[in-house]
This record gives sequence, C-alpha cells and structure tokens, in this order.
Amino acid sequence: MIKVAKFGGSSCASAEQFRKVKDIVLSDKSRHYIVVSAPGKRASGDTKVTDLLYRLQDAVEDEKKFQETLQTIKDRYQEIIDGLGLDFSLAADFDRIEQDLKAGADRDYAASRGEFLNAKLMAAYLGFSFIDSASCFVFKEDRCCDYQKTEEGIRAALKDIDYAVFPGFYGANEKGEVVTFSRGGSDVTGSLIAAAEHVDLYENWTDVSGFLVADPRIVPNPEVIDYITYRELRELSYMGAGVLHEDAIFPVRREGIPIQIKNTNRPEDHGTLIVQNTLKKPRFIITGVSGKKDFCAINIEKAMMNSEIGFARKLLSVLEDNNISFEHIPSGIDTMTLVIHQEELEHCEQKILNGIQRAVNPDLIELESDIALIAVVGRGMKSSRGVAGRVFSALAHEYINIKMIDQGSSEYNIIIGVRNEDFEKAIRAIYKMFVMSAK
Ligand code: ASP
Repeated sequence: MIKVAKFGGSSCASAEQFRKVKDIVLSDKSRHYIVVSAPGKRASGDTKVTDLLYRLQDAVEDEKKFQETLQTIKDRYQEIIDGLGLDFSLAADFDRIEQDLKAGADRDYAASRGEFLNAKLMAAYLGFSFIDSASCFVFKEDRCCDYQKTEEGIRAALKDIDYAVFPGFYGANEKGEVVTFSRGGSDVTGSLIAAAEHVDLYENWTDVSGFLVADPRIVPNPEVIDYITYRELRELSYMGAGVLHEDAIFPVRREGIPIQIKNTNRPEDHGTLIVQNTLKKPRFIITGVSGKKDFCAINIEKAMMNSEIGFARKLLSVLEDNNISFEHIPSGIDTMTLVIHQEELEHCEQKILNGIQRAVNPDLIELESDIALIAVVGRGMKSSRGVAGRVFSALAHEYINIKMIDQGSSEYNIIIGVRNEDFEKAIRAIYKMFVMSAK
C-alpha cells in the first residue's frame, strides 16, 4: 500500500504541529510521499506565511518594510527549528529569496517560497528526500498546469526515491519561472502526485475531522460525513461547502483513488473518505446540505411560449453574448426563470434585459433579488420515498416560503430557492429533520 499525505497550513504552523506530523507519518510506512503547505495560522488572528510573502513582494521598494516583513517570516521558521531542536539553517535560502525579489521576482515566486522552505524543513525533520516541485510540476503559458507533463515529471523525480517531501502549491513554466496554483493549491499538488504514482490513498490532513453535514457557522456541532462520493462532494462544494481545492478532485477521481480527509490534531478520528462509489449506506438519508446566498431571478412570461421553437436558445444566447453563466432554469408552460448570481448580473443588468426583450419579445419580465439556493444532497435519497416531502414540511414548519425547486434526474440532489433572510433558518430546519431526528 502506498499513500500520499498532504498536510495543510495549520498542520505545520508550529514546532508542536511538526511533531504531530512526524508521529503521523512515521506511524505508517505506507506514507511515502508527503506534501506540505506553508506554515498557516497558529491561532485565529495570526497571519499565514503565504500572506506575509505576498506582503514582502509588495514591499520590495520600501526597504524598511521589506526588512521588517522578512524578519517576521524568518522568525516563523526559526521558531519551528528551535522548537524542534534541529541543527538546520535556512539562512542561505533567505539570502537567495531576498536577492531574487530585489532583482524583480514576481508574486508567484514570492508566495511559493513558503512551501519551498517548509518542505525543506520537513524533509530534514523526517529524514526524507526533498524534491523541489519546480522541477516536476509543469505549467503552460496560460498558467494552467500541464497534467500530462507534470505526471511524467513526478514519475521521473521519484524514480529512485522511496520517501519524499514535496512543497505544495507551485511548479514552473517552460522558461523555468515559478507559477502557483490558486490559493489552497497544495491540495492539487498532492492529488497530482497520487495520480502519477497510482497510489492507493490520498490523505489530506487538515484541522477538522472531515466534511461536515452542514456548515458549522450555521448548525452548531454538525455531524461528520464518514463516506461521500465524488459526485456528492461536487454538489456540496459547488454550493459552498469547502475543505478541499476544487481542482484537487479531478486527477485522483480519474484514477479511482480515494481521498481521506483527516485531522492532524485528532488522528484517531476516521475523517471523511471520498470515493467513486460505495455500498456503505450513508448514516442519514441526506449526505449533506449546503447553500449560497445572493442569487437573483429573471422571470419571463410569454403566451404560447411552450410552442415557440427555439425560445430557450434565443433566451440563453443573450446570456452567452454577455458572458454570464446561469445556475438554473425552472420553467412553466408559458414562463421561464433564469437564476443567476446577483453579482454577475449587476454590472450588465440593463443590457441583459434589453437583450431579452429584443431576442424573445416577452409579455412580461420581472426581476427578483436576494434569493438563496440550498442543495440537499445524498446518494441515499435516490431510493427513499418522501425526501422532498420532508424537506418541504421542515421548511413549512418554520414558515419559510419556497421560491424555487429543482430536482435533477439523478435524484442525488434537490435544490431549493428561499429568501436570503430565511437561509440559515432553512438549513437548520433541514438538518434537524434529517439528522437530529434520525439519531
Ligand atoms: N499556502 C498556500 C495558501 O495559503 C497554498 C496552500 O496552503 O495550499 O493558499
């Protein structure tokens, strides 16, 4: 069995966290390839090293500020080195970083140094080889990662190495310049290594014991989801539930490799296992509930709409011409509604309305704002009767008006639109109906 284990920023934020990582890694010989983020927050209110590095690059013209920020970053690493009692120095690396930044190195280079230094330190601490991700993660000119070349690069780098630590978050383009993924991108690094090496499991170590059935800012102490399919995860993350970088799913999913979300501070917890398919029954009928606020709806009415061939195409081409994506299109016999992110519509509202008027000549166009969408997701819903009924009665009990309903034919999810102000109450009602009352 071979595993990739990725440790996020909070898992390597201090000497104490480094010790936990070492215990975890060395307790299981199958953990061959380790990926680390830059040191994250030690407590709330603290600043992530990545953010300090962006600040450092911004201050390159202001020597005083530059030196102050550089010192703060040096102190963060030194605190870890001293705390672990290591005989290890990053002084030469810091000199190089200072030189490079003063010679004009860009933001990506600056940010990447957080992972670079941390991986060097972790490799020394674990006694593993250090592999610089710039030597194997290949980015194209458009800043997208070239998955194929990257996987070849990873295989070449690991050809004669059994145990290695990689810095997450970055690679390099063909010119050798450092390029980063978007924020949180170390998850993608781990996923690509897992896919390249066809490992058995990709462990993603963080500071929570897995995905939660609902957002803990809305529902106090929600249950952890122990098994979730990639499909369910996609639905829930799209609607706002986040633990993992979106692009981290694709490479491992393609290879059928499960991801296990684990908690560095509570390694004994099972966490969440993300799989392609499973016979494991979900603990509750729903796997999770998540949602987002601030959508708006454009309601379009036209007599005999249903017999007008090409109506939807003409309508949607107005959005396409304005580069706007839509979320849902619930429709009736003579009505059609476009549900769109409010923010996206705001800057071109009148253009879109005019465009619709000209394209389909409707009898009536109405706008409605401040709608929240809630996704109730679960593979267990497919085979059970009355799920929609229970969702609606949960909301009715709380006097919440449902503005829109959309159930995909997969029966994996039900999307409900409610008013923004009812959002939290609606999530709590659904959680109570399916989780609390099932316990
Ligand atoms: N350190 C980077 C960030 O803060 C990348 C990561 O942690 O995955 O976004």
